[in-house]
Amino acid sequence: LDVLRRGAMSGNDITKQFEQAYAKWMGMELALAYPNGTEAIRAGLWACGVGAGDEVICASMTYWASCTSVLTLGAAVNFADIEADTLCIDPADIEHRIGPRTKAIVAVHYAGYPCAMDRIMAIARKHKVKVLEAVSHAHGALYKGKTLGTFGDIAAMSMMSGKSFAIGEGGMMVTNDRAIYERCVSYGFYERTGVASRWNAPDAQVTMKELKPFAGVPLGGYKHRLNQIASAVGLGQLKHYPKRMKEIQDAMNRFWDLL
Ligand SMILES: *Cc1c(COP(=O)(O)O)cnc(C)c1O
Repeated sequence: LDVLRRGAMSGNDITKQFEQAYAKWMGMELALAYPNGTEAIRAGLWACGVGAGDEVICASMTYWASCTSVLTLGAAVNFADIEADTLCIDPADIEHRIGPRTKAIVAVHYAGYPCAMDRIMAIARKHKVKVLEAVSHAHGALYKGKTLGTFGDIAAMSMMSGKSFAIGEGGMMVTNDRAIYERCVSYGFYERTGVASRWNAPDAQVTMKELKPFAGVPLGGYKHRLNQIASAVGLGQLKHYPKRMKEIQDAMNRFWDLL
């Protein structure tokens, strides 16, 4: 209601609050909100350096938005097999697919099941390939006690109404890598500070000394700002989400115990 009464539907003050709260909840440093998960994935892959002639390794069974942005970036998808028991990308089918053109691996935590992140990260680090975790089915889910989306170089997630963390339509990307974050800002968040300038800081916390050369430059030509009403819904969801997760978890565990 505050967003509506202030006429603040466009802008990003509430969205920045949502991003900061979401990053904090995940235990990550940086987050950027998107109008949908598809665009968060596209921007994230572009920020990882994916472009014309490159290859990205994706799971062979997933929602298509995990890989279609690879095509719009001019790159090719190299499909890895999935594991029969988790339906997630099979770490044993990744390494032999890595070649000189491979830029990234997309790890989709399918239907809430975690990918084998320790094995995937070991392969990626060995070959200097970036990992994008796709967390649209697994907000708040854990792998070996650690939140999904905190293992890779970057994570992207949808928040459309079919997902467990829902704000209507929306998406988020999180990272601890400031270079990736700033590339995402320059790809789709021109004038994020509200002042049109070639050397804008991507957000108010950055001092001029810390600026990377591409900060604030509209390199992508996209517009990725999330509308503020959805951000306000997101702030509300964050307050309740841990409790709701626990209720669902308790109910599922009761079923498992009875079975
Ligand atoms: C929903 C979903 C997306 C796309 O998100 P949108 O917000 O609908 O654009 C991408 N990947 C996976 C795995 C999804 O489930």
